[in-house]
Amino acid sequence: MKALDELEFDNRFARLGDAFSTQVLPEPIEAPRLVIASEAAMGLLDLDAAQAATPLFAEVFSGHKLWAEAEPRAMVYSGHQFGQYNPQLGDGRGLLLGEVVNDAGEHWDLHLKGAGQTPWSRMGDGRAVLRSSIREFLASEALHALGIPSTRALCVTASDTPVWRERQERAAMLLRLSPSHVRFGHFEYFYYTRQPELHKQLADHVLSAHFPECAAEEQPYLAMFRSVVERTAEMIAKWQAYGFCHGVMNTDNMSILGLTFDFGPYAFLDDFDARFICNHSDNQGRYAYSNQVPIAHWNLSALAQALTPLIEVDALREALELFLPLFQASYLDLMRRRLGLVTAEEEDQGLVERLLQLMQNSAVDYNLFFRHLGEQAPGPAIKQLRDHFVDLSGFDGWGALYLDRLARQPDEAPATRTARMNAVNPLYILRNYLAQNAIEAAEAGDYSEVRRLHQVLSNPFEAQAGMDAYAQRPPDWGKHLEISCSS
Ligand code: AMP
Ligand code: MG
Repeated sequence: MKALDELEFDNRFARLGDAFSTQVLPEPIEAPRLVIASEAAMGLLDLDAAQAATPLFAEVFSGHKLWAEAEPRAMVYSGHQFGQYNPQLGDGRGLLLGEVVNDAGEHWDLHLKGAGQTPWSRMGDGRAVLRSSIREFLASEALHALGIPSTRALCVTASDTPVWRERQERAAMLLRLSPSHVRFGHFEYFYYTRQPELHKQLADHVLSAHFPECAAEEQPYLAMFRSVVERTAEMIAKWQAYGFCHGVMNTDNMSILGLTFDFGPYAFLDDFDARFICNHSDNQGRYAYSNQVPIAHWNLSALAQALTPLIEVDALREALELFLPLFQASYLDLMRRRLGLVTAEEEDQGLVERLLQLMQNSAVDYNLFFRHLGEQAPGPAIKQLRDHFVDLSGFDGWGALYLDRLARQPDEAPATRTARMNAVNPLYILRNYLAQNAIEAAEAGDYSEVRRLHQVLSNPFEAQAGMDAYAQRPPDWGKHLEISCSS
């Protein structure tokens, strides 16, 4: 285990040169204090957990101190926002501090969000507020614990520095970890600015640093694109299966590694609602829960367009066609496991769809339904869950189909079934109201609730003593909270 000043750097992205990023120093925030650190994320850097309590830790992650080997840089990119191409994006308030190499030889980008203005800040102040930093921290670590690919969060620091949003708030910084911060929008930038050499340099960097297994293929760029399609399909399957809504699926928020990236007004579904829109400025529902699948495909098409200088159009088209079948297979596989099915039958898709329709009609809590389904033997579980449905005969019909379906798979002891289902059906979900409670306490200077919530969500599949309150349906005030898009 290492101390903070023992980290080793190898800044590959910085070495690509000034066409890709610009050197900018972090602008510190006043009177920094540590809100929370993730021990698991610290482990990725081989950092000793006790380091979080040192004064140096809060100083470094609030922009006051920097390693001599760090090379802080703002990256340039562009992207499609709500379907429109925006040529003018880039790190407007985040800096890539450098790439740490851990003992296992892995590279981890250290990205400090809220570090001040950069050449890409446009009208923005370069800052991030405490509430949005806490929301990104909690989501990154909670998604990871659920098995959903995501960037990670090392820590959040709070400060006295005032920032103005709808009201006056305080600036904070979040340290994000990811093997790469390259977005679909990076490729779009070099494609639309017609810089073929730089475009190829970017592709070669991503290939060698992040897709080494593709470099040996006959068509390395195509193999890499196929891998992006596969990873994105897998990520979206998990979002849909667990009811995660991203809210701002612009191509500048899509990671080339298929990681959930850039957390804004995201939400997990409480009651199941396919039409749910978590982003209140998304008037058309472009990024509604059920649209995430076609939008991911659309975003991959935008990336494919940006890769046409390197890959033949027909090959790109073929690779794109893999997306939907890959998504469907992965989604159905996970939904089968959530229902406790160990075999695969043709009708399983219909069984899932029919259940979701019933849940939608009765506003049933999405994640708790599956947890409760697995906690008792199937017969009694169905009987108990029946009370949550308005359309009783509809649910009875589904319950009969489900029990018939279970009868066609091997018998097992109830405890075995429960253990298997609990391992894929979380008891604790990052509900908006839970995050809201933690944020309000943190804004008043009490960080204990953020820390408790993070701890509960780090182990979402196992019941934890004294944490029943985190495993309930939201109170009325906590449903459909309006989460501000400003951050
Ligand atoms: P986001 O909606 O967070 O993905 O941000 C979209 C773009 O706006 C990115 O290029 C951000 O860097 C930039 N941005 C967002 N907030 C700010 C801010 N407060 N100051 C400067 N740039 C920002
Ligand atoms: Mg973004």
